[in-house]
Amino acid sequence: MSRTVVVTGGGTGIGFAIAAAFAAAGDDVIITGRRTDVLNEAAAKLGDNVVPFVCDATNVSHVSKLPEYLPGSQVDVLVNNAGGVQGFQYPETGDLRALAEHWKADLGANLMTAVLTTHALEKLFRSGSSVIHIGSFATDRAQGSYGAAKAALHSWSLYLARVWGPRGITSNVVAPGYIADTEFFGPQPPPGFHESRIGETFLGKAGHPDDIAGAVYFLASPAARHITGTVLHVNGGALTTR
Ligand code: NDP
Repeated sequence: MSRTVVVTGGGTGIGFAIAAAFAAAGDDVIITGRRTDVLNEAAAKLGDNVVPFVCDATNVSHVSKLPEYLPGSQVDVLVNNAGGVQGFQYPETGDLRALAEHWKADLGANLMTAVLTTHALEKLFRSGSSVIHIGSFATDRAQGSYGAAKAALHSWSLYLARVWGPRGITSNVVAPGYIADTEFFGPQPPPGFHESRIGETFLGKAGHPDDIAGAVYFLASPAARHITGTVLHVNGGALTTR
């Protein structure tokens, strides 16, 4: 039987690969993102069972319309994937206003997107539904507001696992290491960046969006029904080599 799957930020990178994995299995997939053209193009590539929903997941009025776009009255899988670093330059010392905006942007993009989307769909989860958040190995790598926002996401997922556990709903995090072939690092990462990130792994290679999609797909499968409140690290061993 086909499932209803929502993937935030499903138009590019890791989210696209996650949407592709569920779409290939015949599930009904809703992908979200802020850019209409990117989202429409992605949905067209992924197939007839994928529907784009243009939405800024930090915007309450956008997110609250999401349930109307779903094909049925339940959500089997929600993947809170939208996010990313909102500014690689930390504001200059003394500029408190800029500092506040910088932190709000990272907390908004990486924590509030997940909180708002999950609660907008709250009544549609049933026993057996899975909520999966894309966290980051940045939580353990001294990464400023982005790392702190992802750490908050990990912490909140654990809370969700506790309070929704009695309803048969699981909540888990997949925490990627360095994943190439996404828009995360912009069009031109600094010279040597790719090689240095690969050098941090035991496996000697960058991760691919499909590596994350595989872990998410597993956590949404019947084989993972007794797994909740966990963080599954998918980083080629990088976390332990920092
Ligand atoms: P991408 O930039 O390719 O994907 C991010 C997606 O999120 C985009 O499709 C973007 O679309 C969407 N998005 C961002 N903000 C919002 C928003 N407010 N509302 C709706 N959609 C939004 O990068 P990745 O695929 O690499 O990133 C996916 C996730 O993986 C992120 O959460 C990131 O933090 C995490 N991650 C990535 C790592 C990596 O090495 N690549 C490492 C660790 C974690 P649009 O701009 O159109 O809204």
